Amino acid sequence: MLETILNRAEAGETLSRADALSLLAIQNGSADYYRLLGIANRDSRRRFDGKGVIFAQIGIEASPCPANCAFCSLAEDAFDPANRFALPLAQVEKTVRELTAAGLVDDMFLMTTASFSQEEFLRYGAAVKKLLPEGMRLVANVGDFDLSYAKKLKETGFTGVYHIRRLGEGVDTRLDPAARIRTLDAVKEAGLSLYYCVEPIGPEHSYDEIADEIFRAKDYPVEVMAVMKRVCVPGTKLFSRGEISAAELAKICAVTSLCVKPVRAMGVHEPDELCLMSGANQIYAEVSVNPRDVSLCTETSRGASLERTAQLLKAAEWAVR
Ligand code: SF4
Repeated sequence: MLETILNRAEAGETLSRADALSLLAIQNGSADYYRLLGIANRDSRRRFDGKGVIFAQIGIEASPCPANCAFCSLAEDAFDPANRFALPLAQVEKTVRELTAAGLVDDMFLMTTASFSQEEFLRYGAAVKKLLPEGMRLVANVGDFDLSYAKKLKETGFTGVYHIRRLGEGVDTRLDPAARIRTLDAVKEAGLSLYYCVEPIGPEHSYDEIADEIFRAKDYPVEVMAVMKRVCVPGTKLFSRGEISAAELAKICAVTSLCVKPVRAMGVHEPDELCLMSGANQIYAEVSVNPRDVSLCTETSRGASLERTAQLLKAAEWAVR
């Protein structure tokens, strides 16, 4: 049975949810495990023509976020209000110039907490858009919104939106899962490109829950897919639940990549060479705040620099432009 599914995956056939569950159940470190990773690696290298992809994300503000996600350093229960800030527009513009200067970045992301002013975000977006090299995509990573705001994002120059229905949404967050889905629908209806991710994966999440998000992405569909493990951020409520292993993340990465077959990129957090040999070809350089980091300057902490992202991709033999 498993042999048949692996053969079908190797032949490039479409995989079902039942197939995905069988693949996710493979024992880490077994012969089937390495075969799965090898199949995903070959499939991605063919699909992406051997090219690695680098995204850059700037966290433009930090404040105690009312969504209160129990894994996030910016959650109301974890973030010290004394550290609240919004980067001045001039500083964001300077960072964008620096990030784009080396010619390594494919897409530029701007991120805020869930309660940041929507109008203010459009002001940042419009200014950043003017600075981007011809053809560079601009992506919003913000709280929930409706169709009219999705259209405004598009008019402002955003080409896509990173948005997900998280694992544990509504239980480990204060957000309504239905509102998350409405935003995903608004993104699609407005003609924006949806960037999706199975996240934040922790040891307690079942393969059924993971398969739900893999196939949600496939159904929308998405051009850029990703997987992300939850990291233990000191001071957050979920710190004590621990993390999945690098081996487990690579398996989930391989299965996700083979099921969704994103046409442009397959991303991974936290980036490592194992996932970059298991279907992933895309990682982020991050600047300023980051929900997975207590540092307010993640570029000097957990968030990788452009140079580091390029090094990681090259180490796994992905071509970097
Ligand atoms: S993950 Fe995003 S929405 Fe959730 S608390 Fe952090 S900043 Fe807010």
